[in-house]
Amino acid sequence: SSPSGAGKTTMTRKLLELDPDVVLSISATTRPIRPGEEDGKHYYFVTIPDFQKMVAERDLLEHTKYQGNYYGTPRAPVMAALEGGKDILFDIDVPGVEQLAAFARKDLVSVFILPPSLEEMESRLRTRATDSDEVILKRLANAGNEIAQYDKYDYVLINRHLEDSMYKLRTILGAERMKRTRLLGFDDFVNKLTLK
Ligand code: 5GP
Repeated sequence: SSPSGAGKTTMTRKLLELDPDVVLSISATTRPIRPGEEDGKHYYFVTIPDFQKMVAERDLLEHTKYQGNYYGTPRAPVMAALEGGKDILFDIDVPGVEQLAAFARKDLVSVFILPPSLEEMESRLRTRATDSDEVILKRLANAGNEIAQYDKYDYVLINRHLEDSMYKLRTILGAERMKRTRLLGFDDFVNKLTLK
């Protein structure tokens, strides 16, 4: 997670390019599509009744309302990717992470990405230029509330330079993958190393 303008989208894209074992969870949202976005790639753009139906039918792992729009994580693709031995990358807000943590704490690694300064965050939002001034100001105001919740995350990463941030992100991922508790079939391996 991160406030808008911290560079999370760029880092997400880069991680997917660099690591074939990471799969992106594509959320459903009722927010209007932005220029450059594609349905089914960035989001599944759905109507409010469609979204409500997904909630009612428990098709979403978690969902949230963010600045007047609904966002949620479709359950089935996540389960399929996990069964295929992949790691899933979620680009979700703070309440979304809390919902995932409520039922999958041990499987979840959360990283909060911060911009190096308020000025840098504002300038990144403005150069993106896909949002109106009003939306940018709303996002900046909201960023303060989001940033205050950094202490709910396992890791915090200040995104000063993309290369350096990617190195840090991949270090986190690499170490988390090596945790003893995540090594599947390790007991068998150890048994074979032990003289009977
Ligand atoms: P945006 O409209 O800029 O694409 O996303 C707004 C916020 O919604 C971002 O903080 C993003 O991480 C969050 N978000 C996107 N999809 C989901 C989702 O499926 N669940 C939750 N909880 N948050 C999401």
